[in-house]
Amino acid sequence: MVLALASASILFRDFLEGLFVVAIGSMLVHAAFRLVTGRTKPYRCPNCHGVTSRGYANCRHCGSPISQ
Ligand SMILES: [Zn+2]
Repeated sequence: MVLALASASILFRDFLEGLFVVAIGSMLVHAAFRLVTGRTKPYRCPNCHGVTSRGYANCRHCGSPISQ
């Protein structure tokens, strides 16, 4: 019973490690995809013409909403 519990916890740790690797990998792929598609390039706010990013819901300078 103790042995089964120990092997189960090892399996769980392996599962968590696998999940971690997949999460980091998908984050890297997503970041690379965003760079390639140019969605991270600067975007000018229509209200104050300050440079902000479409990644934000509101302008970093004047706080006006950014249309996606
Ligand atoms: Zn603005």
